[in-house]
Amino acid sequence: MEQTPYYKYDLSLLDRTLQAVKEAVADSSNFHVHYAVKANSNPVILDRICKAGLGVDCVSGAEVEASLQAGFKADSIAFAGVGKTDREINLALDADIFCFNVESVEELQVIQSLAAKKNKTARIAFRVNPNVDAHTNAKITTGLAENKFGINMELLDGAIDMALGMSNIELLGIHFHIGSQITQMEPFSQLCAKASAINAKYLECGIRFSILDMGGGLGIDYTDPTGNPIPDFKAYFDVFRRELKTVPGQQVHFELGRSIVAQCGSLITQVTYVKKGTVKEFAIVDAGFNDLIRPAFYGAHHAIRNISNTDGAKRKYDVVGPICESSDVFDKDILLTETHRGDYLEILSAGAYGEVMASQYNMRSLPKSYFEE
Ligand SMILES: *Cc1c(COP(=O)(O)O)cnc(C)c1O
Repeated sequence: MEQTPYYKYDLSLLDRTLQAVKEAVADSSNFHVHYAVKANSNPVILDRICKAGLGVDCVSGAEVEASLQAGFKADSIAFAGVGKTDREINLALDADIFCFNVESVEELQVIQSLAAKKNKTARIAFRVNPNVDAHTNAKITTGLAENKFGINMELLDGAIDMALGMSNIELLGIHFHIGSQITQMEPFSQLCAKASAINAKYLECGIRFSILDMGGGLGIDYTDPTGNPIPDFKAYFDVFRRELKTVPGQQVHFELGRSIVAQCGSLITQVTYVKKGTVKEFAIVDAGFNDLIRPAFYGAHHAIRNISNTDGAKRKYDVVGPICESSDVFDKDILLTETHRGDYLEILSAGAYGEVMASQYNMRSLPKSYFEE
């Protein structure tokens, strides 16, 4: 075993997942999938995704640079985010990226002026706040009315007028992203209804968007990752095929992050102590929330198994990290095969928002990553 804690990625599962995505959109030539880099920007992962032919969705200048370095073509890069700095906008203009997903008129004005200075045209889409409840964690819902993201419906007419009048802006379309870890299809249905209505309204005024970007958010099975390792991409894209009303020539974009990479990654950690309390037993492991923050931050659940003892009797444990915060708990009262000091535990479904969110809190080292074919 390598020095724990570390991330282990199953590249063959990643490849099979990418294949499933491609098969699910194969019949819709106007569907284009961009990978949301923020879910996992490990260069080995980016390389696989680039080779599969997806585009990317970036939320920082550094992600734009990492994507270019990984081989993604500039014309497959979208750049979202409420707080793009001048430096980041200039970098994206210099690279000639495909599209800025613009989140306010204030940002639009800055992009116009920076593009004018470079004598360039910035292609943009407006991120619209469709007021759809994604029924997910409050920390990862983004589509509701009072939210820092996107432009509210009442302000959209004015924003579009402004963009159409700008010399260095080309308006491509509209963009949505309603939240993350969405496991029911119903919020996506609602999104289709809203997007179709907006599209129809502007078509009537003679404005034909070339791009309708539906964002990401498709969830994965954290409860049974081994039984259900690949999300139902077909069911997801079918919703849009059925319910999103487009006219010929309109391209539909998707920005999937978690659903592509979550299941191919695990965090491997070693048990330092099994501590007997008065009622509980604690498996104290050498990974902490600095390595994987989702349980502490979102109350997220990750399946955990003891990979050193795979078929003994089961006992109840709290699996906790070494960090000096009471939130440093991976899970409580879970059943593991009998666990001893030195055993290795696998924390599953950690490929998305895992390694990318790691920190050095408590002066801990950043986790390393290893890959299996
Ligand atoms: C985070 C994000 C995504 C990806 O979300 P997932 O839930 O990981 O699919 C897509 N688009 C935008 C704008 C985002 O911020």
